Amino acid sequence: MRLISKGSKLYSILFNKCPKCHIGRFWATNKPFRNMFFSTENSCKTCENCSLAYELETGFWYGSMYVSYAISVAVMVLFWSLTTILFPLINIFNEIIIIVLAIILVSPINYHVSRLIWINFFVKYIPNDTN
Ligand SMILES: [Zn+2]
Repeated sequence: MRLISKGSKLYSILFNKCPKCHIGRFWATNKPFRNMFFSTENSCKTCENCSLAYELETGFWYGSMYVSYAISVAVMVLFWSLTTILFPLINIFNEIIIIVLAIILVSPINYHVSRLIWINFFVKYIPNDTN
């Protein structure tokens, strides 16, 4: 599996790894629900292996909202498609309720992954980096 082997961006995103060394953790835990509600204590400030400071500049994480928005739209389109295919005669208000619930339920995972995706846009993988 070359696509999700160490050194690929997907490896860092899926396995909660530092984008630079792929060894240290990005989030302190792999539990998205805990990370969302206790993010100040569960987000690592620096990598425990290569000591990369994750917040590259002040306000860096605001950019992850763009990623989060894209994921939300994808979830909305997915659930809109599913409800229309599975229940062709569904009332539009019930359909909206299902889509909104899906967005709320997916939001912790969305939050967890969007920061990892965002930092992977800017940080390049450097193997064996331990300064
Ligand atoms: Zn690192």
